[in-house]
Amino acid sequence: MSTEKKQPATRYCYHCRTHHPVEEMKLIVTKTGSRWRCIKSILAVKRSREERDAYGRMVSEQNRAEASGRARMLNKIQQQNRSG
Ligand SMILES: [Zn+2]
Repeated sequence: MSTEKKQPATRYCYHCRTHHPVEEMKLIVTKTGSRWRCIKSILAVKRSREERDAYGRMVSEQNRAEASGRARMLNKIQQQNRSG
């Protein structure tokens, strides 16, 4: 019988700079080598990127709508000035 205490398998997460259980980790292959990173942080970045993309789309649509609205208004003003 082994008296050896089984160490929980953890990996150092370069993103959080801490150790996580290995089952929560994913091996990321980069140009400089492979590094362990937790799935949670990967998903968090993915989610925030999607949110940012969605926000960016919304803002650009608003800007476009506003710009076309402003252009219409300017046209109207210019036409009024011409006729008046
Ligand atoms: Zn982590």
